[in-house]
Parts: sequence; structure tokens; C-alpha cells
Amino acid sequence: MCRLFAIKYKTSQLCQRLISHFSNLILILHQMQFKHIAGQAAVKQRLINTVNDNRVSHAQLFLGPEGSGSLALAIAYAQYLCCEDKQPDDSCGVCSACRKYQKLMHPDLHFSYPFFAKDKNDTALTFIEQWREALLANPYLSLDIWRSYLDAENKQANINIAECHQIIKKLSFKPFESVYKILILWLPEYLDKEGNSLLKIIEEPQPNTLFLLVAQNQDQILNTILSRTQLVKIPALTYDEIKEELMQNHHQTEFAAAEIAYLSNGNLTEALAMLQQENKSYHTLFVQWLRLCFGNKGPEAVAFVEQAAKMGRENQKNFLRYGISFIRECCLLRAGAGSLVHLPAQELETAQKMTNVMNTAMAQAISTELEKAHYHVERNANPKILFLDVSLQIIKILNFKTLPQGTHYIPD
Ligand SMILES: [Zn+2]
Repeated sequence: MCRLFAIKYKTSQLCQRLISHFSNLILILHQMQFKHIAGQAAVKQRLINTVNDNRVSHAQLFLGPEGSGSLALAIAYAQYLCCEDKQPDDSCGVCSACRKYQKLMHPDLHFSYPFFAKDKNDTALTFIEQWREALLANPYLSLDIWRSYLDAENKQANINIAECHQIIKKLSFKPFESVYKILILWLPEYLDKEGNSLLKIIEEPQPNTLFLLVAQNQDQILNTILSRTQLVKIPALTYDEIKEELMQNHHQTEFAAAEIAYLSNGNLTEALAMLQQENKSYHTLFVQWLRLCFGNKGPEAVAFVEQAAKMGRENQKNFLRYGISFIRECCLLRAGAGSLVHLPAQELETAQKMTNVMNTAMAQAISTELEKAHYHVERNANPKILFLDVSLQIIKILNFKTLPQGTHYIPD
């Protein structure tokens, strides 16, 4: 009896640990119907219309910046196409096709993506387990995150010739179960010239075969491929869409959601990564820093430097990025463009006060210093030396009204 209880207790503890582990990634396990994808109402409607109006193009390029949800949208669209009980605004989520899609294991759904070939015969299929795991854990996958699953962080990823041949082979069969056979090719930017071997099959595919390419940079895609696809443009998410998503599906308070939405610049991948990091208010720390620089307080500046040095690289980068955004908002306020400012009430008040002691030239000079610091943090600069130097520069700018070179005076 006791033992049984102990086992039950252990299991429930384990479940709770798992739930809390995954609670930041609630979209998980991870359905990718339209309703699970943040924002993008117009794109979703346009995609659904192509199905209802019977004008599904056989080669489409989903083009959107990182964190816009373009890959998840392509999967939701594919699932909608294959769903056996389509609803007006989404797939049903319960039919046999939908259930297979939810595990990314439908026999007519294929993926291609960049990988690091250890052997020249490796194809995307070699890494399909990792792919499903990564994508089900985070539909807003970035190449960096994908790299971490492949355990090959500094190697060059690409879609090799073996994979191109594999694609041609896979798509030469008729669909097994669904009306459509669909290949989702993530990041066609990583197709080398070998990609040209796909042209024929993209141009004249088997009946009911669809190519959905999901890309971030139009400039880096082979022109020959670009010219053969129909463009589905996906914008970055808006500030409100990200804020809403963080509050609705990631248990964030309005204040925290607002700060992350603001920092993430329309990139949900970035926003979700920030959730994983230490949750602290960059605002308080940044304003503290500006105040002590403005007061020209040496010893306190040194204490701040110690604190900042211990933050860790990702936090330092976010902190500096927050500073750059905050200073930009101060400039907008000063220029009378308050309607463009997205700060929560308390931060807005501080920003307004800042504009009294910091003119536009000073703000620009500080912003430049922060950007340089961000660049150096990324390249592993010594954080103590770095933050001390930036503090001294900001002291100069705010107190002595000189640009860091010391040669130009900042006009009032
Ligand atoms: Zn269905």
C-alpha cells in the first residue's frame, strides 16, 4: 500500500516537473493548427481562401522573418489541405489525418531542412527524429535552435545533393492516404547549386504534389527556384500580437509580456527564448545605471559593473538591447512622436523625465555606445572592462557633453 502510494507520488511529482518544464512552451506537443499560431489573421484567411476557392498553387514560398511563425503556418496549411473534415476556419484536429499531422508523422507529409552531413549519403531523413522533437517542442524554431538539436553548433549546415535526390524520389510516388502529398522545405536559402536539380519537379510535379518552401531571406534563394514559386508573404508579428500570445499561452503578466514583446521586435522565437532566461526587469536596472552615470558616481558605477558582469552573456545582450530600445523611445518622445512609443505606463514616466536631461545628440551618442557594447558582448569581450568603459563613456556624454572621442561638443 505504502509502496503503491510512493510510486503514485513519484509519478505525480515527475508529471509536475515535466509540466513545469514545458509550461513555457505551451503550444506544445504541439499542435500546429491555425488556431494555435500567434496572430497572422490575414495570412491564415488568405491561405484558407486558396483552398475554398480551389486555387492551391503547387509551389509556394512562405517568406517571413524569424519568429513570424512561417514554418508553423506552412504546417497548419498542409494539415488543413489534408484534413478529412475541414471547418470554415481551421482543420478539425480529430480526424485520422489531423492526428497523424499532430505527430508530424503523416505518410504524405515530408520535410526537408538544412543539416550537417556526417556522411555524404546523409539526408534529412537521417535526422527526422531530432527534427520532429525540435519542431514539436517549438514550432517557432530558428536555425540556431535546430543546430543545438544536431549537436554541431559551428559547422556549416546545408541541403546537400543526396537530399535533393531523395526529394525527387519521395515525390515520384502518388499520395498514399491524402488527396495531397506535401513537401515542406525549410530554409531553401541553404540549397546550393544542386537545388537546380529540383527545378523540373517544382515546375512539373506529379498531380496533387505540393511544394511549400519556408524562407527568411529572399535574396539568398536561387533565382531559378524563386521564379517558379508563388509568394506568400508573412509579416513580422506586431507588438500586440506577441504581448497577447505571451499573456494567453505563456502565463505572463501584462507588465512582463509588454516588456518582452517590446524587446523582441516582432520575433516570437526571441520572445520565447527570453522567457527561458532569468526573469528580471531590465528597465529598473537600466534606469539605475543612467542615473548613477548622470550623477557621476564612481563607486556606484563600479558596483553596477560587478552586477552586470555576472549576468551572463544572453542577459547582457538583452539588457543592452533593452537600453537601445529605451533610448530610441526617449528620442521619439523628444521629437513629439509619443503615439509611436510602446512603453508601459511606469517606464513611460521615466522616459519622459529622461528627455529633460538628455537631448537627441546625447541619446544618439549613448545608443551608439550600447550598440558597440552589444557587438563586443557577442564576441566574448571581458564584461567587466566592457561595462566599465561604457559607463565612463555615458558619464562623459551626460555630464561633460562630449562625444566619446572627446573632440566634439554636444549642443544643447
Ligand atoms: Zn481533420
